[in-house]
Parts: sequence; C-alpha cells; structure tokens
Amino acid sequence: MTNDELNQPGYEIPPEIKNQVAITTIDRIYNWSRRSSIWPMMFGLACCAIEMICTAASRFDFARFGMEVMRPSPRQADLLLVSGTVTKKMVPQIVRLYNQMPEPKYVVAMGACASGGGPFKEGYNVVSGIDNYIPVDVYIPGCPPTPQALLHGLITLQKKIDNQTLREARWYKKDVSEVIPVPVLGPDIMDPREYELIRQYSQQKSATTVSEALEGESNPV
Ligand code: SF4
Repeated sequence: MTNDELNQPGYEIPPEIKNQVAITTIDRIYNWSRRSSIWPMMFGLACCAIEMICTAASRFDFARFGMEVMRPSPRQADLLLVSGTVTKKMVPQIVRLYNQMPEPKYVVAMGACASGGGPFKEGYNVVSGIDNYIPVDVYIPGCPPTPQALLHGLITLQKKIDNQTLREARWYKKDVSEVIPVPVLGPDIMDPREYELIRQYSQQKSATTVSEALEGESNPV
C-alpha cells in the first residue's frame, strides 16, 4: 500500500514529506496490517488444492499479497482455504480445525465442490457446500478455479477486511467464543445443531409406524 492509499482522505500532506508522513485511522492501519499478512492454513482436499499450490508457486506467487506463510497448524492460521471436494468423512475434521483457529479468521470456499457440492452434489458421500457447517466469507466459482480466480478471491477477501471496523468487529464481541459443534459421522453425517429436528422427526416417524402397525392388526386382510 502506498502512502496515498494509507492516508485518510481530507488531510493534505505537504509534497516534500509525503513519503515520510501518513495520517490515517486506527481502523485503516489495523486492517492494512491484517490484510497484508494473511496466513492460510496448509490444507487441501482434492483437485482444487493443486491449483492452490500452483498459485503459491513462482508464476502466480501469492507472496505478492503477503500470504505466502502457509501454516501447518490451525492455531497459527487466519485463513481456511477450503480447496476441494468436502466429503462427509472430512467435515468433522474441517469443523474441528476451524474451531481451533484464532479470531479473526476467514474462510474461502474454493471451487464448485467447496461452494455447493460441485459435480458430486447429492452424492452419497459429499456435502453440498462447506457453508452448511462453517461461515464462508468468499466463494470462488469454477471446476477448478484457475490461479487467477483464486487470486481474485483473495483480493476480494482483502477488500472485505478493508471495510471492517474495530467497533463492529465480530471477534471483539462477547459472544464470539461461539464454537461450532463438530458434526458426527455415523451411517450419515449428523450436525449436532440439528439434533432437535432429528429427534422430532424420529418421534413422528416411530409414532406413524406404530399406528400403522396397530391399524394393520385391527384390519387383518
Ligand atoms: S471443483 Fe472441480 S476441480 Fe475442484 S475439487 Fe471439485 S471436482 Fe475437483
């Protein structure tokens, strides 16, 4: 970011000290430092991850945006790049990793699979988008998205960070310690947040089955 971009509009700085002095706001400099040093988690799920790796390599090089420090630990990362097909078997791990990341944290759904299930939508082993489980900040379309598309998504995330304010930041609010219940993989994936719904449905289902059985007994063919 140049001094011109960092300066709060409305303050005129004499040209002779323009490169040494900047007048700005806490929000602007705080956001500038965060958006210029996003650390993505070293994590990939399927073919989209190959494009992500390619974006990190020298031809596209997301080091230009300060994002080259990919961390192998969620506790040191602030960006979860969900790159690839999200299977039901992987969802508990993804949610657990998300919970372990410190705030402020962001999620990018890279590609058709992570955004909505992609070519495997409605498949027996795939979820229809990671946003069913964790909040997503930026969606990147494509199967797979090109490195240019990923860079565009990351720049979009930077713009989102630019527009945040400390006063309204979610992670400074008291209820931020929200931990997403880790889904349970049984015969199918179950989201603990939907237990009440599942319980009601099972009760209704068993009541219908019992009444049908009783009806069958009282009206033998
Ligand atoms: S969106 Fe396409 S390229 Fe990406 S993981 Fe799914 S199938 Fe693979």
